[in-house]
Amino acid sequence: MAINNKIFKRCPKCGEDKELTEEFWGQITSKKKGWSCWRYICRSCHNQSTDQWRKKNPDRQKELTQKWAKANPERIRELGKKWAKNNPVAVVAKSRRWQKKNPEKVRLLWNRAGKVKIDSLSDSYVVRCLRHMNAHHGGRITPEMIVIKRELLQYDRITKELNNVINR
Ligand SMILES: [Zn+2]
Repeated sequence: MAINNKIFKRCPKCGEDKELTEEFWGQITSKKKGWSCWRYICRSCHNQSTDQWRKKNPDRQKELTQKWAKANPERIRELGKKWAKNNPVAVVAKSRRWQKKNPEKVRLLWNRAGKVKIDSLSDSYVVRCLRHMNAHHGGRITPEMIVIKRELLQYDRITKELNNVINR
């Protein structure tokens, strides 16, 4: 059915005519086979039935989600990155919550960071980083600068490591 150049489709479940767009109708896609088609019932009916199913089968739902996550690690990472980009405040909150819940892991990470400091953040390494940064200034490198730069480098590494653990 078409009205004003808009195509409508009747949902067999709720009997309503709804415009055939992403807003009202979900699509089923097969990436492997390279096709997609509109779902038989409208989006809200589909959501309703999946909600009901989820409520009736919470364990099965969890299982399926986990199975999907295991089969699509790249997709999960992608989604996680997208989410983190759109929710910078939530990321910090999540990281704080995670740190509160996992004090032992945090301690472990700090210990590891401490080892990193002894192993590779030697004065000469830090000076090299500073030189690299200050190359175009040609400025002198003071002992205070080394101390601060070392802390910054360490902080960077810890943040990276924390993010790796949290997003795993
Ligand atoms: Zn419907």
